[in-house]
Amino acid sequence: MHELAPYAVTPASSRGRRIAEESAPGRTAFQRDRDRIIHSTAFRRLVYKTQVFVNHEGDLFRTRLTHSLEVAQIGRSVARNLHLNEDLVEAIALAHDLGHTPFGHAGQEALNDCMKDYGGFEHNLQSLRVVDVLEERYGAFDGLNLCFETREGILKHCARKNAVKLGDVGERFLSDQRPSLEAQLANLADEIAYNNHDVDDGLRSGLITLEQLVEVKIFARHLSMAKSHYPEISGRRLIHETVRRMINTLVGDLTRQSAANIAHNCPDSLEAVRAAPYLVGFSEEIWQEQQELKKFLRDYLYRHYKVARMSAKARHTIEALFKAFCSDIRLLPPVFQSKYHHDKHQAVADYVAGMTDRYAIREYRRLFAIEES
Ligand code: MG
Repeated sequence: MHELAPYAVTPASSRGRRIAEESAPGRTAFQRDRDRIIHSTAFRRLVYKTQVFVNHEGDLFRTRLTHSLEVAQIGRSVARNLHLNEDLVEAIALAHDLGHTPFGHAGQEALNDCMKDYGGFEHNLQSLRVVDVLEERYGAFDGLNLCFETREGILKHCARKNAVKLGDVGERFLSDQRPSLEAQLANLADEIAYNNHDVDDGLRSGLITLEQLVEVKIFARHLSMAKSHYPEISGRRLIHETVRRMINTLVGDLTRQSAANIAHNCPDSLEAVRAAPYLVGFSEEIWQEQQELKKFLRDYLYRHYKVARMSAKARHTIEALFKAFCSDIRLLPPVFQSKYHHDKHQAVADYVAGMTDRYAIREYRRLFAIEES
C-alpha cells in the first residue's frame, strides 16, 4: 500500500468495530470490510437494481452494481493521489448504495411516502441498516460488524431526528463535524460517476440527444476536444471519447482542488479533518459546470415522460406491495413474519427495500395476478 498522509484514516487510528474481533492476518481492517461487503447478499442484489432505468429496459444500462464499481474506481484513483486510504474509500463506495430500494429514485420516494407516519425511509440510513443489522451471515453478530469509519462513510446524510438515535455514527450530524476525507471523497466520486454514466445511458436510450447536450458547456467543451483529436469518429465511439474526457477533467479537478484545500488547512490528523470545513471538493468553475449538467439531466432525462411513466408504475408497485404486506402478515415469507411482530412497518420496509427490480415485479404478480402462484 502507498504511504498514507497524516490526515488519512489508518487501521491503527480507527475507532474499531462495534464488537471487537481479532485482526485478520494479511489484511487491514478496511480491506476486510471491503471483502465482507463484496460477499454480502445485499451486494449481489445490486446487479438487479437500477438508478434511472428499470432493470428489464436494457442490458447495457448501469445497474447499482456497475455504478458502485465505477464509484470505487474513481474514488480509488483520487485517494491514491491524495495519499488517503484507498481501501476505506473502496469499501464505502461498494457499500454506499446497499440500502437502495428497487426502481431507483421512484422506488425510494414511494417507500418514503409509505413510511411517513412510521419514521420515513432514507436510503443512506437503510444502507447502514443493511451492514449493521440486516445481513445474516456471522455466528457472533447481526450485520457485517464493519469499522466505524466505513459505517460513517456509508451514512452520507441523515436527518437530525434519526441521527439522535444512531449513537456513534450519528454524532457528527449533531456536533457539526465533518466525516473523514475518505468519506468526503466517496461522496464526490459518486457524483462524478452518476453524472457521466447518466449522460452515457441517456444517449444510449435515445431519451436525450447529442444536439441537446451541446447546449451544456462541460459536454460541448469535451465533445469538441474529442472531435479535434479524432475528426473521423462518430456515434458510440465519439460519445465515449467525450465522456471519458469529462471524467478525466472532473477527477483531475477534484484531486487538484482537494490537494490545495488540504495544503491551505494543513490538517495534521483525523481529528483536525473533522473540525475543518469540507476539504474534498471541486474548483468553483468546475462545480458550476457540473451544476449545469445536473440541471440538464434533471430537466431532460429524469423528467422525461418515458421515465415518468416507468416511475409511476414503480411507485404503484411499491405502494401496492407495502399496503398488502402491512394489511396481512400471512402474505409475508415466514422469516419476515417473526420480525413483523416486533415492528410491522419496519419489517415490511426492510423486505420491500431489499427486493431487486425483477423480484418486486414478480412479487407483485404473485400477489395480484390470480393465475400466478
Ligand atoms: Mg450512488
